[in-house]
Amino acid sequence: MLWDYPFRNFTGSLKNSSISITLKPDFIYFNLNFMKIKSFIAAFFLSLGLFSAKAEEGLWIPMLLQHYNIDIMQKEGLRLSAEDIYSINQASLKDAILIFGTGCTGEVISGDGLVLTNHHCGYSSIQSHSSVDNDYLTNGFWAMNRDEELPNPGLKVTFLIRIEDVSQNVLGKMDDNISEVERDSIIRERIAGLKKENEDGNGYKAVIKPFYYGNEYYMFIYQEYNDIRLVGAPPSSIGNYGEDWDNWIWPRHTGDFSLFRIYAGADNKPASYSPENTPYKSKTHLKISTAGVKEGDFTMIMGYPGTTTEYIISDEIKFMLETSLPKKVAIRDARLKILDKYMANNDTIRIQYASKYRSISNAWKKWEGVIIGLEKTNALARKAEAEENFREWAMSNPERQSEYGNTLQALRDKNRELVKYSLVYDYSNEAVMAAEIFDFALDCNSLVYSTSEMSKEDKRAAVDKFKKRMDAFFKDYNRKVDQEIFQTTLAYYYRDIAPEFHPDIYNVINKKYKGDINKFTAETFNKTIFLQKDKLLELLDQIPESKFNISLRFQKDPVLVIFNSFAAVYSKKVIPAYDNLKMDMQVLYRSYMRGLMEMQKDKVFYPDANFTMRVAYGKAEGYKPADGIEYLEYTSLSGAIEKHYMDSVVYSLPEKLIEIYNSKDFGRWVNEKGEVPVCFVASNHTSGGNSGSPILNADGYLIGLNFDRNWEGTMSDVYYDVSICRNISVDIRYVLFIIDKFAGAGYLINEMDLI
Ligand code: ASP
Repeated sequence: MLWDYPFRNFTGSLKNSSISITLKPDFIYFNLNFMKIKSFIAAFFLSLGLFSAKAEEGLWIPMLLQHYNIDIMQKEGLRLSAEDIYSINQASLKDAILIFGTGCTGEVISGDGLVLTNHHCGYSSIQSHSSVDNDYLTNGFWAMNRDEELPNPGLKVTFLIRIEDVSQNVLGKMDDNISEVERDSIIRERIAGLKKENEDGNGYKAVIKPFYYGNEYYMFIYQEYNDIRLVGAPPSSIGNYGEDWDNWIWPRHTGDFSLFRIYAGADNKPASYSPENTPYKSKTHLKISTAGVKEGDFTMIMGYPGTTTEYIISDEIKFMLETSLPKKVAIRDARLKILDKYMANNDTIRIQYASKYRSISNAWKKWEGVIIGLEKTNALARKAEAEENFREWAMSNPERQSEYGNTLQALRDKNRELVKYSLVYDYSNEAVMAAEIFDFALDCNSLVYSTSEMSKEDKRAAVDKFKKRMDAFFKDYNRKVDQEIFQTTLAYYYRDIAPEFHPDIYNVINKKYKGDINKFTAETFNKTIFLQKDKLLELLDQIPESKFNISLRFQKDPVLVIFNSFAAVYSKKVIPAYDNLKMDMQVLYRSYMRGLMEMQKDKVFYPDANFTMRVAYGKAEGYKPADGIEYLEYTSLSGAIEKHYMDSVVYSLPEKLIEIYNSKDFGRWVNEKGEVPVCFVASNHTSGGNSGSPILNADGYLIGLNFDRNWEGTMSDVYYDVSICRNISVDIRYVLFIIDKFAGAGYLINEMDLI
């Protein structure tokens, strides 16, 4: 259904639309298969009807394990205490886990600050060191000694020092009768106070976040390190084996890992890059088990899941399922096809856009899986059933009735109003901001504003710093690609969004350009100064001297004129209404959540993910994707080799790996059957951001590296179902095998603690 979305056939013209997008044969095949797989799986899951209770569901706050569920975890097999996992009195597992960059997890695996994370998390760093002549993405990179490790300006890792329940500090002594706006501003003030108190002069960062829709608040004290060097990465043909074809898919044979090292100043404290810095000594590091993992074994994950919304009402899921996701998928589909067309025939563009391609396609394919998973697990009906239970409970006595009697209905009413604004929101992110030129132009513009009050010297330094950003932009930018994306998404917006949210710029296109978006776009790209590097540089160099002309010049630039025309609509007609509705819903959800917890007093509720450290546990187990099919919980190197001989462009292992396979030189990295294990699945509840998270055994030893989820289970962000939700990890033995036998970097293994 999705692949027949009507906007597929646009030209750039508003009046007579038909953009023809050339499909790479692989993608036609892929899309057709997607459709087939969808209906096939649909039939199977519908035949199963309702699913059994959720067992392994949950993203637990590490500090609360003792209080919540450590005994359940121990019953399931865990041989650690809550204190071994999270402690502020002794080194504990949490001290080895870090935020890698701004959206992934990583872990320290040696006494010398060696960090393991995913290849896809290190991807942009690996790419930034790559060029056509020196292509680390294609060939891999291995520092053969510490001097060869490569610094990555801008990359940081963040350690959690401690968590504190600050609910009382934030919510205590608050008059029940104040307005939500007043309440909000009191909360903000208290948070700012807490932040100041806990940050001042100690080099730490305090982050305070709401949990359970603001019924509780927790503070996280962090320490950031920013001299992070690239140590090793396998070639993409291993690290991204199966490419987008296999993304979100099980069975899997991807060695999705890379290695970095944290460097610190002489006192082991954070320091900016310096050749004098030395490897960081963390409080603890993970020990590695080479004993492997078997079906049914207890597994545990620690990391930073980004966002989940497990308690939203069925109406929100319905909008997601029927409108928002299909439309977002269609826009990304079009963008990917444009990239695909250009990347297929040009190596420079292939390298320039490799990382961008991955980030677009990651969500694109996931959203497809979410739709499938929600449909198959009957999530809508099950949510509605739970809501009916809540309604009955709320109506069953006068006290509850006055507290919660209207909550659900009010949420539904607000949601009905919200959806039209939500769609514009979706399109502003997915369509309008899809063109790279917008982001760059906005950065240039904010350089002018942010430097306006600075001294001449500071202005000069800011401009010089910005030139690096500019070089990075142009290094990975292709005008033709961006122009085609821009004209395509502009047309999508016009077609899909109600006229009341069309900015003035469309009148200009219709009148002056007779509706020809392609012509309008071409002219915009010809005229804009943001693509004329020399002229732009000349202008930026004037910043230390004058500012007015430059900002005026920027504001008249066609790219910013277009942006401002969208911004005018959003600021008047969308953002205020959207924010108000969201705020109202937030209040209602706070009450709904409180009600749910009151209704099921014996149940331990976990808070939605909000990119704070969480623990999830489950077991290594396969699943049944369809009638008559049962997936095993692990894959091995022979399966990767089989795929290699399937004659598909996405499966092409390096020759050296094939040779090692043929010579059976596996060393000690084998299971009891003599195979090299590659990946395994387990029923740990994870989300985006858990990439790079360690998967640990019952003793807390590292057995693998989480990197993905199965396609049928990607809906776990809104609805977890243990029968089909699985996280996918690289077996640590495959990581070690590649480092040792393939890369010949066994010296790295010497610094690890293997059990
Ligand atoms: N691939 C995801 C990530 O990058 C992990 C997931 O969503 O399961 O964080």
